[in-house]
Amino acid sequence: MRTPIIAGNWKMFKTVSETLAFAEAVKGKAVVEGVETVICAPFTNLPALTEAVKGTGIKVGAQNLHFEDNGAFTGEISGVMLKELGVDYVIIGHSERRQYFGETDEIVNKKVAAAFRNDLTPIVCVGEKLEEREADQTKDVCKVQTEGAFKGLSKEEAAKVVVAYEPIWAIGTGKSSTASDANEVTSYIRTVLADLYDQATADVIRIQYGGSVKPENVTEYMGQSDIDGALVGGASLQPDSFTALVEGA
Ligand code: PGA
Repeated sequence: MRTPIIAGNWKMFKTVSETLAFAEAVKGKAVVEGVETVICAPFTNLPALTEAVKGTGIKVGAQNLHFEDNGAFTGEISGVMLKELGVDYVIIGHSERRQYFGETDEIVNKKVAAAFRNDLTPIVCVGEKLEEREADQTKDVCKVQTEGAFKGLSKEEAAKVVVAYEPIWAIGTGKSSTASDANEVTSYIRTVLADLYDQATADVIRIQYGGSVKPENVTEYMGQSDIDGALVGGASLQPDSFTALVEGA
């Protein structure tokens, strides 16, 4: 009932020509029936990428957006601009944005609203820092971030959100959370969503795991009861590895 979703997060990697080479290499691959495939690329690559993957079944996402649709916000990109390019998804509140660019739960919430205003599906990232995990605060942190992100969303909107649970200590470190530990947190996040809405709504919201996911471990995560996909950084950058991730889902 929940369609698995594998999303690559390219972060600040790849030029337009590298993006086109990637798209060519995965043509006819990285698509499996019953699994949704998304590539979240840098803004500059989005026009080329949306064109290049047309008709392949691969969908395109951005990695950020501004919470206003237009205005005097030098250097920013809005949901209106993304939508016109044929972008379907947008990552919101990635820990790198929270850590290096000061994104708070309130900003994340405004960005989620901007995504819905522009018919983009938000992939909302939540997750604890190492010290929070060690202090046994993982669930509290995820609860606050989840409640913050979903504030004001209708049941219908909430059902469309993709949540990405990404423990920060597992991102780019090769130290992934064990599948059962990750599942414990994702199932907890689902109870938070059930409290906010109802069980039926919580049951359709997709929750990904992210943090050092690779072809060798993706199947184990996907086998968990409350993990519906993966948000993948490093291992999404090579066509073969990206294809293997989708095939392993
Ligand atoms: P990683 O990054 O797969 O390189 O750990 C995941 C992410 O930041 O979304």
